[in-house]
Amino acid sequence: METFDIVVIGAGFSGLYALHRLRDHNVVCFEAGAGVGGTWYWNRYPGARVDIPSMEYSYSFDDELQQEWRWPEMFSAQPELERYVNHVADRFALRDKIRLSNGVERMRFDEAANRWHVHTAKGDHVVCKYVVAATGALSAPNTPAWPGRERFKGEVLHTTAWPSDGIDLTGKRVGQVGTGSTGIQLAPIIAAQAEHLTVFQRTPAFSMPSGNRPMDPGHEQEWKQNYPQRRQEMLQTAGVSMLQRSGVACSEYTEAERQALLEEAWTSQSAFQLLLTFSDVLTDKESNDVVSEFVRNKIRAIVKDPETAELLAPKTYPIGAKRLCIDNGYFETFNRDNVTLVDAKAAPIVEFTERGLRTTEAEYDLDVIVTATGFDAITGAMTRIDIEGVGGRKLTDKWVDGPTAWLGLIVAGFPNLLMIHGPLTPGAQAQMLMVGEWQVNFVADIIESLESDGFSRIDATEEAEGWWAEEVDMLSRYTLHRLADSWYNAKNIEGKKGGFMIYVGGFPRFAQLSNEAIADNFKGFVRS
Ligand SMILES: Cc1cc2nc3c(=O)[nH]c(=O)nc-3n(C[C@H](O)[C@H](O)[C@H](O)COP(=O)(O)OP(=O)(O)OC[C@H]3O[C@@H](n4cnc5c(N)ncnc54)[C@H](O)[C@@H]3O)c2cc1C
Repeated sequence: METFDIVVIGAGFSGLYALHRLRDHNVVCFEAGAGVGGTWYWNRYPGARVDIPSMEYSYSFDDELQQEWRWPEMFSAQPELERYVNHVADRFALRDKIRLSNGVERMRFDEAANRWHVHTAKGDHVVCKYVVAATGALSAPNTPAWPGRERFKGEVLHTTAWPSDGIDLTGKRVGQVGTGSTGIQLAPIIAAQAEHLTVFQRTPAFSMPSGNRPMDPGHEQEWKQNYPQRRQEMLQTAGVSMLQRSGVACSEYTEAERQALLEEAWTSQSAFQLLLTFSDVLTDKESNDVVSEFVRNKIRAIVKDPETAELLAPKTYPIGAKRLCIDNGYFETFNRDNVTLVDAKAAPIVEFTERGLRTTEAEYDLDVIVTATGFDAITGAMTRIDIEGVGGRKLTDKWVDGPTAWLGLIVAGFPNLLMIHGPLTPGAQAQMLMVGEWQVNFVADIIESLESDGFSRIDATEEAEGWWAEEVDMLSRYTLHRLADSWYNAKNIEGKKGGFMIYVGGFPRFAQLSNEAIADNFKGFVRS
């Protein structure tokens, strides 16, 4: 048994920064993967790319780092992000604190000593005062539960476990299941290589052209010269500052003006610009309908076969209610002779067969099946650890009807366990690298203040969890997000309970309320 001040779980962007920020303490980090980078270590499928401009999707904590690093493209691809995160691990000498391929499996809080006992896959048993869970909101893969996988003679790949040396799909019949953000990035690349691609779609996604291009030297220079101010602007928005925000409601414009503005946004080369064309796209259904129909018409214009175009055009939820996807020629892919779209909503997949996949209507012969089926999002990484808090209560029991957490940070009855990107935080409604960095600073400040004030334990009250649940619920009623079934509300996985798990009040309000709670003598917390 070893003793540490702090255990950090996860060596993604958040966990790595936590190691650096908390370096004056005795810290160890456990990471399930064999390398650092989290999302950008696991998701090495072809086409994996960030949807936030590179100059913004980068650490802000060290000015020399942000001045020296050169991003080759406006929107970074996975290999570049992995290279960057490895550079950071070396540059800040973080590696000797990280134990790779050594996931945390079990944790138990010792109430008498105010210590966590942490047990890992390789048998490590560590006792520590604080646990910083940087386990990721999108890190627990969702694997389809269809029976018969052992019968299938071909290969099954999940996008989060892509072979690191790639896979040659030339001459193969590939089935891709899932058309979320990942599937949209992947399909054009598979289609260009495979003999045939069959895309199984349950729910179509809204997507706009990514605008990726080689880094514009003027843009890079402008950001590097103004980084302090730019980073401040990011904190005052949601971390995406390149966008033009409209202060004008859709109803104020004529039809011709609306179409002209939307056309401008579509070709703006700034992801998400469509959602900001009018001030009320995410709050007013009629405004949203205008934007949704604009995108549906784009899909109809791109995709030559009208039936396929209609199937690809989302009609059951408002645009932006799930994170808008960005793509590099996704809809165009369906004009290729070697690509077929299958409506897996009308005829769901029921099983693997020896030859491929069977839906309720047909059997599809395939050599490779790629599951781009997303994640047991937000709560999955935490609930997959056996966590026992005060009174022997399991986290999975506490969260049986959905997650609770004060400020999305700490769960009542699970003291000294502080989450980064926990449930009920802004998550994908903000730029997550930036929010992760902010949350790590917030957590580090809390730990430092507890230490200097002589406390050894911090918990939340159930009353405070209730306040936060009300805040999250109240805000979700102001926006259209609740109208979509997605991983925001646990509806991407059959049977998963969760309610609305994302804070949609905006990062600035989230940060302000979090700071106010601390300033108000740790309101909602119990220190002892
Ligand atoms: C394909 C994809 C694209 C994305 N694109 C964007 C984007 O464009 N913009 C954006 O803002 N965000 C994006 N995200 C979200 C992305 O997750 C965050 O931006 C950011 O990388 C999160 O960093 P993190 O360190 O908090 O979590 P992660 O990167 O998820 O890292 C968590 C780490 O914890 C480890 N872990 C989990 N459980 C355990 C355990 N029990 N024991 C040990 N280790 C454990 C995991 O292995 C993982 O390495 C994307 C996510 C995915 C999956």
